[in-house]
Amino acid sequence: MTGASRGIGRAIAERLAADGALVAVHYAHSVEAAGEVVASVRAAGGDAFPLRTELGIAGDVQALYSAFDSALARRGIEPRLDVLVNNAAVSGSARIHEVTAELLDRIFSVNVKALVLLTREGLTRMPEGGRIVNISSAITRMAYPESVVYSMSKGALNTLTLALAKELGPRGITVNAIAPGFTETDMNAKLRTTPEGTARLAGLSVFDRIGRPSDIADAVAFLASPDSRWVTGQLLDVSGGMHL
Ligand code: NAP
Repeated sequence: MTGASRGIGRAIAERLAADGALVAVHYAHSVEAAGEVVASVRAAGGDAFPLRTELGIAGDVQALYSAFDSALARRGIEPRLDVLVNNAAVSGSARIHEVTAELLDRIFSVNVKALVLLTREGLTRMPEGGRIVNISSAITRMAYPESVVYSMSKGALNTLTLALAKELGPRGITVNAIAPGFTETDMNAKLRTTPEGTARLAGLSVFDRIGRPSDIADAVAFLASPDSRWVTGQLLDVSGGMHL
């Protein structure tokens, strides 16, 4: 479960743990927050362990799996990954005239390059019946020029989802993506600093509220479960009917 220390990732980690998964709570910097997630999972009777690796830098994926395999070995478990949730991502507001090479490199190295390599390596540990859930965004089905590079990175994720679903069908592995709309997390806190800003985001949903991390986690739980065995290659919009 990448990016599980905060926001949507935290809610997914807690939900999957409640469903019985042993969860690797991956994060980059938020040591304390990741510790809280592990503690809250254990307090609820589940099991989890923290997994710290910054993505988007040289050697990231090798470091992540080396820590992952060691954590499992300490529990007497062979390297094995039943469910991979690709959630960690960075955003960045920039219209086309503001785009820089640095922004492109940063967003694509975390949201695309690290994710693809992490998936490739994860697949060597994934048994038949495994699940991959990619956290995309509803902004891939509407124009969002305010964050053009970030939107493009999520478009790449949708394309990957479709290709891998076909590739991994013979192994009984499903690959799906979830497209959240605006969800109450640190990622968009800047857009919610005034009551007007908050009301504007809420008004984008047909339910007139901003999404909660648990709204997303409940949908991920379905795609991570055996109940979704006949669903693959799909992009599930979980945006509260944003811009319908
Ligand atoms: P968030 O609150 O900013 O949390 C991001 C998580 O990813 C944190 O756990 C963070 O770890 C981790 N992370 C970020 N950069 C990383 C890196 N370079 N290496 C390793 N870990 C890294 O984000 P969120 O809003 O929950 O978003 C979760 C997912 O939903 C993302 O894929 C995002 O694109 C997608 N999404 C969000 C929204 C929204 O409105 N929030 C809407 C559509 C899609 P640290 O805590 O250690 O930094």
